[in-house]
Amino acid sequence: PQLANQIAAGEVVERPASVVKELLENSLDAGARKVDVDIESGGIKLIRLRDDGFGIDKEDLALALSRHATSKILQLEDLEAVASLGFRGEALASISSVARLSLISRTAQQDAAWQVRAEGRDMEAVLSPAAHPQGTTVEVRDLFFNTPARRKFLKTEQTEFRHLEEVIKRMALSRFDVAFNLQHNGRRVQQLRPVDGEQARERRLASLLGAAFIEQAVHLDVSAEASGLRLWGWIGLPTYSRSQADQQYFFVNGRIIRDKVVTHAVRQAYADVLFHGRHPAFVLYLELDPALVDVNVHPTKHEVRFRESRLVHDFIFRTLHRVIADLRP
Ligand code: ADP
Ligand code: MG
Repeated sequence: PQLANQIAAGEVVERPASVVKELLENSLDAGARKVDVDIESGGIKLIRLRDDGFGIDKEDLALALSRHATSKILQLEDLEAVASLGFRGEALASISSVARLSLISRTAQQDAAWQVRAEGRDMEAVLSPAAHPQGTTVEVRDLFFNTPARRKFLKTEQTEFRHLEEVIKRMALSRFDVAFNLQHNGRRVQQLRPVDGEQARERRLASLLGAAFIEQAVHLDVSAEASGLRLWGWIGLPTYSRSQADQQYFFVNGRIIRDKVVTHAVRQAYADVLFHGRHPAFVLYLELDPALVDVNVHPTKHEVRFRESRLVHDFIFRTLHRVIADLRP
């Protein structure tokens, strides 16, 4: 099973940023309202994530580290309409197969916390008491210490940290109601309070994407009653377009995705107004019935398949096109 874990780890754990992504997803799935992320040496030496979510039961702690153990999918039908960010039950198993992992957790029902550890090949998880408020702390040390070939592919600490920051940025854009704190080598890098309301959200956007983006961006919120689709967020003016596609964020039911259908619809909507080679900037949220979108396409869960892609495409295109047409000078 350890070999299988390491192979699977190759698919979900590519670099520190992918570890942070998986751990953040778990915290959000656990209903956390605050997540503290401590990083050392770009995440290669240490990734520590503490949340105030509902925690893991003492009995389930060791199980959480084993492959395909997920508490989120109870039956096959659940896979048809995944409501959580995680569902494959392989992140913690994969991470612990290529790093030294410690999991400390306490549920609301317990009066003490418990800890398990796993280290690369020695998957035996030992349960011991620990001190911790309600919630979970996951510590991942020495990533790829036992897979030197993979470790060689890591870039400088600075580069790895930039990737990791980008992951946190995306999560912070997907959950305005959650506080995110980030430290690197003991220095505070990001401190985001939970926000509510359009103005407060725009302040978070300004601190994540720069004030220039939000100063020119247009807010939209359009629902189609008949199909149950809703598209909201902010789109940049055609004149603001950057030369690189670095400010394009599209979330489907709270999950950041890359998708051909979406990309095409957005491009088409901007087609009349955008100069060749330019990239529109946007932060958009599509919400729809989870049964209409398949997220079980790839281990990283970045890809989706819409069950009615024509409908989704046309809704995005028409909604954006209407807004963009109004912006024309
Ligand atoms: P998945 O998220 O796909 O279920 P993971 O390997 O990421 O699989 O996590 C395994 C299980 O461990 C989860 O299903 C969940 O029950 C538990 N778990 C992991 N992290 C947390 C957390 N921060 N808070 C509460 N439970 C957690
Ligand atoms: Mg997970």
